[in-house]
Amino acid sequence: MRLAETKYSAQEIKDLVDTYMMETYERFDFIAETAEGMYLYDENGVGYLDFYGGVAVNNIGNTNPRVVKAVIDQVQDVSHTFNYPYTLPQALLAKTICEAIGMDKIFFQNSGTEANEAMIKLARKYGVENFGPDKYHIISAKKSFHGRTFGSLSATGQPETANHNGYMPGVPGFSYVPFNDIEAIKEAYNDHVIGIMLEPIQGEGGVHPADQAYLQEVRAFCDEKGILLMLDEIQTGWGRTGSLMAYMYHGIKPDIVSMAKAMGGGTPLGAICATKEVSKAFTIGSHGSTYGGSPLCCAAGLAAVTEIIEKDLATNAHQVGTYFTDLLRSMPGVKEVRGRGLMIGVEFHEPIAHEVKHLAFDKKLLITQIDQHTIRMVPPLIADKQNCDTAFQILQQSVKELSSFTEYQARLA
Ligand SMILES: *Cc1c(COP(=O)(O)O)cnc(C)c1O
Repeated sequence: MRLAETKYSAQEIKDLVDTYMMETYERFDFIAETAEGMYLYDENGVGYLDFYGGVAVNNIGNTNPRVVKAVIDQVQDVSHTFNYPYTLPQALLAKTICEAIGMDKIFFQNSGTEANEAMIKLARKYGVENFGPDKYHIISAKKSFHGRTFGSLSATGQPETANHNGYMPGVPGFSYVPFNDIEAIKEAYNDHVIGIMLEPIQGEGGVHPADQAYLQEVRAFCDEKGILLMLDEIQTGWGRTGSLMAYMYHGIKPDIVSMAKAMGGGTPLGAICATKEVSKAFTIGSHGSTYGGSPLCCAAGLAAVTEIIEKDLATNAHQVGTYFTDLLRSMPGVKEVRGRGLMIGVEFHEPIAHEVKHLAFDKKLLITQIDQHTIRMVPPLIADKQNCDTAFQILQQSVKELSSFTEYQARLA
């Protein structure tokens, strides 16, 4: 829908949001009216270089033609049926995903947090059915982020943050250990533990990658104890980090993996994949979802996932990501650049992340901020080196303006 087709001004639209919506988001101050590839456009046709990709969702670029066509075709045939009849998009997407990432079975959901709820439920049911009612506990990592519904929120190891504050008590049966520390897992382990739940790269927690050895050691420990490795690849999945799934880079396989964000091509779609053995715990009637795996979202998902695989966007993410990361490391004021592929966190020496985000926005570059010191960039995986050069120049200019401002303030003081 375009502003010109309504009777409202841009300011009136913002006022409507203020008046009628519960606002929990700090907004970019513009109306995203259209989008294409690497750009979002406002109602005047002004372009914004998209280096947040709808938060790691638009991996194949904004309004990708393949997804647009798939959605239009499918909505005209059948958009929703509930999961009683068989539908083509669902079956084909299930096959495409399981084969591409080497897993046996899939269950569709609508979002990331829901995918993690399914992962937690499957792990618990597998534990209780195979080892008895006391085998339900899940160990996750400090600074992890697994979602905002109660199960995934309780798995989220950030008890001190706004994610948890005001919402406790959570769901029992979770404990948190420091990330990248195999000994901490061994210490926390007891007979109640059914699984270890981790992100291969902690996203919301500050873009902290798991060490190559760490995930392999966790895999070996899970095998030794006969428990489940549960990976949350909601952000790292679908080419983002330079391989289709991040676990492929580590040369391991989880027992259950959750995914969402990019897999729906911009429609709400999530899923878990699991081994044949673990999947057996889900039987007729034991889990479900009204919308999960709708023909509409699966058609979009099939287009998106096929596009990622056929265009080998994972390789582009690796190449362009490496180029961009090297550039960012040369920028003044930067303490550390973390991540892999096109999942990049930049930590500054000074707490300037919020100001950098806003100055970049003024120069028509969209990025996100994680904490006072850290910005995150998760652009579409179609980004090229030129896009990175542009983003780099804007960021460098923004930091420069800030430091001269800070120096100026210091001189005044
Ligand atoms: C975004 C995200 C989620 C939550 O996904 P939603 O679709 O917002 O519910 C969970 N885990 C990770 C690692 C994420 O990045």
